[in-house]
Amino acid sequence: MRQNLILLGPPGAGKGTQAKMLVDKYAIPQISTGDILREAVKSGTPLGIEANSHMSRGALVPDEVVIGIVKERLKRGDCGKGYILDGFPRTIAQADALFSYLNECGCPITEVIDIKVPKDHLVIRLSGRRVCRSCGAGYHIEFNPSKDGGRCDRCGGELFQRDDDREDVVIKRFETYEAQTTPLSEYYKKKGQLTTISGIGDVEAIFDDICKIVDER
Ligand code: ADP
Ligand code: ADP
Ligand code: ZN
Repeated sequence: MRQNLILLGPPGAGKGTQAKMLVDKYAIPQISTGDILREAVKSGTPLGIEANSHMSRGALVPDEVVIGIVKERLKRGDCGKGYILDGFPRTIAQADALFSYLNECGCPITEVIDIKVPKDHLVIRLSGRRVCRSCGAGYHIEFNPSKDGGRCDRCGGELFQRDDDREDVVIKRFETYEAQTTPLSEYYKKKGQLTTISGIGDVEAIFDDICKIVDER
């Protein structure tokens, strides 16, 4: 069955970690707007320069920019059997735009999974998060360390800390999440598409919970 999934949840909830596992299991792509935007920032394109002015202070990139990126991405052939949206939508305007777009093509969202994690856990997760510069694999200095502290287990790439995982920006990102993204839980609940899960505990156990929800829908 075709799976058009959305992973909702605050910064550090484990969306990226779970999305990468879902990619392997269901053979559908992960669409992370954060990853796409960071790629643009790295390349120094006009989009990247604009995006960075928002990302570096923990604010959202404007809706029309992100909506345009996602529409283009969804047109690509690899989305034909479904996809996992990770970090999109993040505002009601983005959710409305996604709804209209998918309505036109007759392939709606099949499931929205809202990953709940208390803030004290999130702070520890974000401050210890490390990402591989080459392949994007995610690590945590304490909960999921690489074998050789500074290098990626998969590809040997250098691990780094995201600029926006520094404490002052993290505080802003939480505020942004509370103000602009939390209303989406209610939005998808009303549509009957939302399932809330706990994102604390073993990564594999959380993954099992998500797969059960996806398979039962
Ligand atoms: P996290 O996974 O920690 O929640 P992301 O990688 O998803 O962080 O996002 C990093 C930053 O990229 C956000 O703080 C925001 O500036 C920007 N961004 C990502 N997705 C969106 C989106 N859907 N709308 C607006 N801005 C976004
Ligand atoms: P998000 O994409 O929602 O911002 P990530 O998947 O990048 O979140 O996870 C944030 C950090 O928390 C990473 O360092 C990751 O290794 C770690 N992490 C993810 N899931 C768990 C978990 N269940 N328990 C402990 N740490 C986790
Ligand atoms: Zn790597």
